[in-house]
Amino acid sequence: MDTMKRNLLLAGAASALAGLFGAVTRRADAVEKKAEVFEVTHTDDEWRKLLGPDRYQVLRHEGTERPFSSPLNDEHRAGTFVCAACRLELFSSRTKFDSGTGWPSFWQPLPNAVGERSDRMLGMLRTEVHCRRCGGHMGHVFNDGPKPTGLRYCMNGVSLEFVAGTA
Ligand code: FE
Repeated sequence: MDTMKRNLLLAGAASALAGLFGAVTRRADAVEKKAEVFEVTHTDDEWRKLLGPDRYQVLRHEGTERPFSSPLNDEHRAGTFVCAACRLELFSSRTKFDSGTGWPSFWQPLPNAVGERSDRMLGMLRTEVHCRRCGGHMGHVFNDGPKPTGLRYCMNGVSLEFVAGTA
């Protein structure tokens, strides 16, 4: 085999290997995303129709509403904040506090209400918070909240709905 032929073969093998690794990496990504299965599911198209543009962008694509834009910032009655997509009860008014950030804030979710995962979007390591039942994005949780937990669940008001009643 002459040198040129051998080099061509090697180049071909290297490129095939690179292709294989690419496929494996992509497959791993897909599996990771699929691993999180929620009780309430819809296609992206169905969610868009169900939620309307603002809620769809935040709940399904981790958008962030403009600070001080949510009427829920000023909601101080007793009651429960439910997921705007599937209506699972997420936060009690008893754990709501004024963080001054312009987003509805809570120091604790209701039991078995939310899921959390690491989020490296925007170059920061943050903890993302979503509805346990439908996976709808709520916001993030930070360690600078008030007592008794020291946590600050910084939520998008558009992802929540308030139901007045016993908290
Ligand atoms: Fe939900």
